[in-house]
Amino acid sequence: MTINIGVIGTGAIGREHIRRCSTVLQNARVVALNDINRDNCQQIVNALTPEARIYDNAIDLINDPQVNAVLVTSWGPTHEAFVLACIEAGKAVFCEKPLAVTAQGCMNIVEAEIKAGRQLVQVGFMRPYDSGYRALKAVIDSGEIGEPLMLHCAHRNPEVGDSYTTDMAITDTLIHELDVLRWLLNDDYASVQVIFPRKTRKASSHLRDPQIVLLETTKGARIDVEIFVNCEYGYDIQCEVVGESGVARLPEPVSVQTRSAAKLSTTLLTDWKKRFIDAYDVELQAFINNVISREMTGPSAWDGYAAAVAADACVAAQTSGEIVPVKMADKPAFYR
Ligand code: NAP
Repeated sequence: MTINIGVIGTGAIGREHIRRCSTVLQNARVVALNDINRDNCQQIVNALTPEARIYDNAIDLINDPQVNAVLVTSWGPTHEAFVLACIEAGKAVFCEKPLAVTAQGCMNIVEAEIKAGRQLVQVGFMRPYDSGYRALKAVIDSGEIGEPLMLHCAHRNPEVGDSYTTDMAITDTLIHELDVLRWLLNDDYASVQVIFPRKTRKASSHLRDPQIVLLETTKGARIDVEIFVNCEYGYDIQCEVVGESGVARLPEPVSVQTRSAAKLSTTLLTDWKKRFIDAYDVELQAFINNVISREMTGPSAWDGYAAAVAADACVAAQTSGEIVPVKMADKPAFYR
């Protein structure tokens, strides 16, 4: 069975996912495209998907009977309306993060999905599909290191553009940790605090960089995440879990070790796209398989909501300097 996919938003990640569907993944073909800029779609039709139809209106794409499932890869503020339209049309939808730009927007999607009576939404959090995080979770779930007590994490980028602002360290960067650490620990956040160390001279004048986010989970585990987006040396994701009887660490990406010129060295990645490239493939293949089996797995609309609530608390904590409680609604039975 081949799933006919419509893509809304043909920018950077949209193009990557279209390439994936067309050249890497199984049982999927892109049949419809929409972007606010029609030329973007035309370029893709010319290069990758000659048979895809271009829509000037995203809602028409969603309602096209030929389209079985939709990828929403447009600008974040458009996601909520497009995902709600997919639910209304009864179509499975893969929505890049954020599910919506407010926690209330995510809750609107949760409520619509519950009303529809069927899970249709998968959120584009790809880290749970990364083989390293999966291996780390397997160790935690096996009980080998006992109950997790503390996590030491880091999210470092070599540099960011001038348009990157202090709150984006939460909403664009930490958001991936907020999702994957909940999944890793099978726990929710109770409170957050943000601390600003000495600022790097490499950051733009309006950006506070680095930042340390301290999270407490409902089971009492403590997590520190260093966000350092002008670290210069590479794209580096770290996660160490300290348990009652041992420590488990996220594996480093595979890299050849060389002995040369009196040095032992391995190369570090600098591009985030390369770090998780396999995870994106696995994530999107899982979505396609979910559409075929009519059973959604992976990050749900509820997970999108949970990340948004925690992110809101972190942004509030950046401003107040206080410990801010994370106040989530009760998890509906629908998502258990
Ligand atoms: P991008 O390159 O700016 O692409 C977004 C595309 O959507 C652009 O072509 C934009 O057109 C188009 N667009 C904007 N409003 C639209 C509308 N109303 N209807 C249809 N198309 C519209 O951004 P991106 O980097 O691909 O990011 C897209 C989304 O994916 C963001 O939410 C981002 O956070 C997420 N993302 C996730 C990951 C991940 O690791 N999971 C990585 C990258 C991005 P214009 O350029 O003309 O405005």
